[in-house]
Amino acid sequence: MKAMNELMLHFMHDIYYAEKLGVRSMAKLAKAVENKELKDAILAHRGQSQHQIERLDQVFEALGKRAKGKTCAAMNGLAEEGEEAVEEFDRGPVLDAALIACGQAIEHYEIARYGAMVAWAKQLGLTEAANLLQQTLDEEKANDSLLNDLAERVLNPQASQEESDDDEDDEDESEGIDKGDEPKAQTKKRRPKK
Ligand code: FE
Ligand code: FE
Ligand code: FE
Repeated sequence: MKAMNELMLHFMHDIYYAEKLGVRSMAKLAKAVENKELKDAILAHRGQSQHQIERLDQVFEALGKRAKGKTCAAMNGLAEEGEEAVEEFDRGPVLDAALIACGQAIEHYEIARYGAMVAWAKQLGLTEAANLLQQTLDEEKANDSLLNDLAERVLNPQASQEESDDDEDDEDESEGIDKGDEPKAQTKKRRPKK
């Protein structure tokens, strides 16, 4: 059986990868943003995330472990959704509103991960790690509410004024046979329970 400190380490590897991908993804998505306030907010959070990675380095050190990442499937997917929005919508308030929603999904993932790790670190008596992770958790929460405010105050009202020049949507409805993508069946064999 694995112990709780290994659980902690497992998610440290996950979030280390996620933060690094976030830094790359934010640089890319900021280029697609039109609203200056949103662009500045994304780039500011990008800078903050670079400090969060340094903080993770310190946590690894406090745990006596080497800093390394392990593929986070969730973050890969969340970053990909942002890129999908860029392909799907033209530059402007509607895309900006979409990118805020995608950005908030990333913040919510980070809040879930850091929230759990702070609790585990406290449980394990790892005070220094808990304090460092708490600082990042607070930043993620602050960024989530900043994005929320920007959406409600500026971008959602602007986006609602945009008119569609796309008549593809009607087609889908009238035909009624396009069911869209379905989740793929799991092909991986389950290991029998011991
Ligand atoms: Fe972060
Ligand atoms: Fe993950
Ligand atoms: Fe974040």
